[in-house]
Amino acid sequence: MDIANYLKSVFSLEGKTILISGAAGGIGAAISEGVAKAGAQVALCGRTLSKCEALADKLKAEGCDAAPFLLDVADLDSIHACVDAVTAAYGKIDVLFNVAGINKREGLLDVDEATYDRIMDTNLKGVFFLSQAVAREMYKRRSGNIINIGSHNDEGMLGGCSVYGASKSGVIALTRSMAVEFAQYGIRANAISPGHILTELTQVTWDHPTRGDYLRDRIAMGRPGTPDELVGMAIMLASDASVYMTGQAYHVDGGCLCGGKPWEYDTAYKA
Ligand code: NDP
Repeated sequence: MDIANYLKSVFSLEGKTILISGAAGGIGAAISEGVAKAGAQVALCGRTLSKCEALADKLKAEGCDAAPFLLDVADLDSIHACVDAVTAAYGKIDVLFNVAGINKREGLLDVDEATYDRIMDTNLKGVFFLSQAVAREMYKRRSGNIINIGSHNDEGMLGGCSVYGASKSGVIALTRSMAVEFAQYGIRANAISPGHILTELTQVTWDHPTRGDYLRDRIAMGRPGTPDELVGMAIMLASDASVYMTGQAYHVDGGCLCGGKPWEYDTAYKA
C-alpha cells in the first residue's frame, strides 16, 4: 500500500455525514472545508442561512459534498427542525461538530442577566440540546461521534470572560458526561479547545496596542493560531483514527496552557 492509500485508510471521512453548527464562522468554515475535503458529506448549519449558502457554493465548486441548513442553537424548535431536515436529507448523522459560540468581554461586576443568558443559551444550552437531538438519532444506529469546541478559557482564564469561561467549562463537563453515558450506545464525545485563534473577528485584539502583546507573551510559539491549524485535530477526531478516544478535551494552542513564553532565566545556551 502506498502512503496516500494508507493515510486514507486511517483518516478518510468518506461515507460519513457531518452536521456542523456555526459552520460559516471563522473556525467553522475551516473545519467544514477540511472535513469536506477529507470526503465527508457536510451539513453546514447556522443562523444566517446566506452565509452557509455561500460556503456551500464555494465547497461544491471545489468538488465537495456540502449543503446549507438553517439552525439557531439557542432555539429548541430550530434545533429539532434542523436535525429533522439533515436526517431527512442524508438518512443519518455520523458526526456532530458543535462550533457555534459567542462571547462578550466585560468584567464580572458589569455582566447583566440578558448577556449572561445570551452567552449561556448559545454556548452551553445550545450544545446540550443540539447534542441531545443528534444523539437520539445516533442512538437508533448505535453509532456516532460528537466533537465540541471548547476554549482556552475552559481551563486557563482571561479577565472579562467569566460567563464565556463558565459556559466553555460546562461544555467540557458535558463532553465527559456524554462520553460516560453514550459509550454504551456506540457514541463517542471529545472536545477541541482552541487557544487564541486569529479570525476576522479577533483581528482587532491582535492589532490592539497592549492586548496583542499580552496574548503573544502567553503563547510559547509567540503567535496566534489560524483556523486551518485546527483542521488536523478535527479530521482525526471525526475519523476512525480516534476510535478509542472519548471524554477528552484536546488543547490546540501553540503552547498556551503549558505556560506561554519562558521568563528570563540565568543561562543562555549557545552551541
Ligand atoms: P465566529 O464568530 O467567526 O463564528 C461563530 C459562528 O457561530 C458564526 O457562524 C455564528 O453565526 C454562529 N452562531 C452564533 N450564534 C449562533 C446561534 N445561536 N445559532 C447558530 N449559529 C450561531 O467565531 P469563531 O469561529 O472564532 O468561533 C467558533 C467557536 O470557536 C466558538 O464556539 C468559539 O467560542 C470558539 N473559540 C474561538 C476562539 C478564537 O480565538 N476565535 C478560541 C477558542 C474557542 P453568524 O455569523 O450568523 O452570527
